[in-house]
Amino acid sequence: MLIDSHCHFDFDIFDDQRDVLMTQCENHGVLGFLVPATTCLSWSKLQALAAHYPQWRAAYGLHPYFLRESQLAEIDLLGDQCEAAQAIAVGEIGLDCWPGSVDINIQIDFFSRQLLVAKSLNLPVILHARKSYDLVFKCLRETKFKRGGIVHAFNGSLEQAKRFIDLGFVLGVGGTITYSRAKKAHRVLNALERSAFVLETDSPDMPLNGFQGQINTPLSIPIIAEHVAQIRGETERQITAQTYANLLRVFPKWHEGLL
Ligand SMILES: [Zn+2]
Repeated sequence: MLIDSHCHFDFDIFDDQRDVLMTQCENHGVLGFLVPATTCLSWSKLQALAAHYPQWRAAYGLHPYFLRESQLAEIDLLGDQCEAAQAIAVGEIGLDCWPGSVDINIQIDFFSRQLLVAKSLNLPVILHARKSYDLVFKCLRETKFKRGGIVHAFNGSLEQAKRFIDLGFVLGVGGTITYSRAKKAHRVLNALERSAFVLETDSPDMPLNGFQGQINTPLSIPIIAEHVAQIRGETERQITAQTYANLLRVFPKWHEGLL
């Protein structure tokens, strides 16, 4: 089955169309959704939606890009939240060095503390890393975090990919690879082992080529799978089966959850 391993399906923008989209996804074979949280304020809505839709799995955490709205004290609540809501991962956490982001030392503090929470719960993490791979490796090393997870929207080199894979991570492959100009991403994707990646949309963000300016939805997953198959010279069936197997390997709690 096809899974969207990273979508913000809890965002308000989907409130009016969520049920319709869920039905459409089912009709297109997209049968699972991993929804990572962004801010503490969003946790309760996500928890309620994940309880409502048996196809959803949730991760809880404080997203690096939204830390202006966050306080360190919220991390004290994270462990209980993950346990009460049967989280399968801690996320979306990481470091974002894009202009306009919060001071990097503050980000590192939040990230490292959340890695320690994940470590104490023995949960994998959903990593958000933008222009920050070396710093992310440093935090993983310093916290001795070895439980792995997903590197969301990976766009690094093959060497960086291998470093993450050695630490138990798989790489999130999404809409970027539908653009013909993304030559480096195509080369890296083509060189990866089958066991190294999963599919994701980052809905409502990261629209596919040809859909710029539109709201992205998990309905993009079959199109992404088609592109991945073409780039790697494999069949869509192989991509579907292998990415599902990869997801279950990284998230052994996938089938425990809320069913
Ligand atoms: Zn995200």
